[in-house]
Amino acid sequence: MTTLKQLPKLAIASLGGTVSMRKDLLAGGVKPALGCEKQVAQVPELQAMALLEVETLALLPSASLDFPALLDVFAWAKSQVEAGAVAVILTQGTDSLEETAYFLDLIWPFDAPLVMTGAMRSASQPGNDGPGNLIAAAQVALADTSGGRGVLVVMDDQVHAASRVRKAASLSTSAFKSPSCGPLGLLLEGSVVYHHAIKRKEALPLPLRTDHKVALLESCLGADTDLLMAVTQLGYAGLVIAGFGAGHVSESWSAALGSIASMLPVVVATRTGSGPTARSSYGFVGGEIDLQAKGIHMAGQLCPRKCRILLWLLLASNNQHRLVSWLQ
Ligand code: ASP
Repeated sequence: MTTLKQLPKLAIASLGGTVSMRKDLLAGGVKPALGCEKQVAQVPELQAMALLEVETLALLPSASLDFPALLDVFAWAKSQVEAGAVAVILTQGTDSLEETAYFLDLIWPFDAPLVMTGAMRSASQPGNDGPGNLIAAAQVALADTSGGRGVLVVMDDQVHAASRVRKAASLSTSAFKSPSCGPLGLLLEGSVVYHHAIKRKEALPLPLRTDHKVALLESCLGADTDLLMAVTQLGYAGLVIAGFGAGHVSESWSAALGSIASMLPVVVATRTGSGPTARSSYGFVGGEIDLQAKGIHMAGQLCPRKCRILLWLLLASNNQHRLVSWLQ
């Protein structure tokens, strides 16, 4: 017989997002309304799975989360693990989930899983996916095999690594993908089955400052260099470019980036949404060989948005010299 005492302790917090949203007549659409208690109440099965510690940390659309807010979320999650939680679940909006998950993954020092989930359909919509995603997140969080995998994103019965996942569709319930490598695992009849291992580095040190900025700009056909050249004048501490194809820019951008790279770290990623940047294939001006010769870093597998998160955190703890070892 399972007694309450034997249940593991599971901490769940919500930050807002569609998973917390309900129709609001005045606003003319859905907006955050359900705190964490109410989200958890939609899934009574959770009570039999774990002793729950439930907290509403924010009720925001996820585009309005920011780095200081995430550091507060980290501090709460850390305190829960230190107080005996075997895992932590965060529910939030899906719009920025690929970024928040990677931010937290880079600083998460525990083997205990930090599992993030959300919903593509609000609580007011028929077939809303929030409750199903929440129970799936709990199944993943409580599985012995989930330890040591860092921050995991669970959506639509798939488990994704924070460093690979992206929102690849605006409205579909199967919006989350891990391009190039696929999901880490799947939920089958309530149990998680992992297909891939994940190599994690040690957690990055926590920020010593939060007032610095890293710019992200996309190269596109016929673009001038005015915005690029403004980056240094506007006080940015780093620059990420979502480059063409395998990490390429025009000749004029190559020259501009070369001069910026003598002042601050510049990383070129691919804007394609899948696949790594090249390192030694293209020899034209604006190709990766030229860019690297100018002191610019190639992002490898990291997408532009995750590169910006990485560079921001490295700069925050004066660890920018470790950038290359983090770009895979
Ligand atoms: N559409 C978003 C979501 O799926 C809204 C948000 O990110 O807050 O949650």
